[in-house]
Amino acid sequence: MGHSKETTLAHGGNQQGYQEKHTGAVNPPIYLSSTYHQQQLNEFGDYDYSRSGNPTRDQLEVAIAKLENGTAGFAFSSGMAAISSAFMLLHAGDHIVITKDVYGGTFRCVTQLLTQFSIEHTFVDMTNPVEIEEAIQPNTKVIYMETPANPLLQITDIRKVVQLAKNNSCLTFLDNTFMTPLHQQPLDLGVDIVLHSATKFLSGHSDIVAGLAVTKNQELAASLKFVQNTYGAILGATDCYQLLQGMKTLEPRFTRSVSSAIKLAEFFHSHNEIEHVYYPGLHHHPGSSIHAKQSTSPGAVLSFVLKDHVDAKSFVEQLSIPVFAVSLGAVESILSHPATMSHAAMPAEEREARGISQRLFRLSVGIENEEDLIEDFKNALTVKAGVL
Ligand SMILES: *Cc1c(COP(=O)(O)O)cnc(C)c1O
Repeated sequence: MGHSKETTLAHGGNQQGYQEKHTGAVNPPIYLSSTYHQQQLNEFGDYDYSRSGNPTRDQLEVAIAKLENGTAGFAFSSGMAAISSAFMLLHAGDHIVITKDVYGGTFRCVTQLLTQFSIEHTFVDMTNPVEIEEAIQPNTKVIYMETPANPLLQITDIRKVVQLAKNNSCLTFLDNTFMTPLHQQPLDLGVDIVLHSATKFLSGHSDIVAGLAVTKNQELAASLKFVQNTYGAILGATDCYQLLQGMKTLEPRFTRSVSSAIKLAEFFHSHNEIEHVYYPGLHHHPGSSIHAKQSTSPGAVLSFVLKDHVDAKSFVEQLSIPVFAVSLGAVESILSHPATMSHAAMPAEEREARGISQRLFRLSVGIENEEDLIEDFKNALTVKAGVL
């Protein structure tokens, strides 16, 4: 019998067979052992070497597989390690159709690394099925999605893309970092591999860098296991422990952050100094109804554009609560400036054309008191309007 997600999370994925057998310890022991004593010549135990398998990592991998309704989970040293390892399932001559609004590190991997191995790609507007269909070639093996995308929260219709992929015998990969397995379960919608930067909401405390991959396809699970062991970008036992601890509170953290994000989105939307708000929870947001059909909340990340007369520099300086930094998904709210942070490497004209202007900010809402957050933003915006 399956438990609800928050119950699974609260117990760190603990289940029969994974509780600590000798002492019943509630927290999993951190198995700091690279190698394992073998009892017999020619007879090996469950573990032989920690790149291939580690009991602490196993517990995390079982937990994420359960949460995503998959059968096999894999823990990597970063979100990018998980994503690059999944791309290692491809061969020279294969082709990827990928969203043009993809995370910057994934963009770099596809455009600068995979091309060295003759793995080709076409960027598409993933919100446009006609464009996707036209990009599919006989050698297309993977359609790669990220939804909501960064930083404008564009929504991909997961079911539609999965159908297109199946019609053309392609696999689908989906970066589920923004929604977490709590509020979006892509494997249930037919996606083949779900990827996470566990650095973000899953760990939740801006402390570790980690990545996860999950599938329920046995063949893909075996291939991912092979890549994980061969490429070797595994997550260390201590970080596995820390990630499991973070995941235990995912439900209360994420629920709180989402509820504050909804209020903040409404606040920004009705504020005079704000030009536009990007958030799947607002009715005017393109794809909001599609998002509602495939996710159970609008998430905890939103972006907004300051009006021309608001001085962006002093706006940031007036704020006292959010951390001004890259990254997202933590207990503390994080305000980012995509034009000079995540998208700094993109040529200015390309950035502007995509709507990533100097006045665009992305906010990952934390678990602070929502009234405090609203007051803080109100103050930063009011001061600017008043003084100028
Ligand atoms: C941060 C992030 C990544 C990369 O993860 P790392 O853990 O930083 O390697 C990938 N996708 C999305 C959507 C992200 O936000």
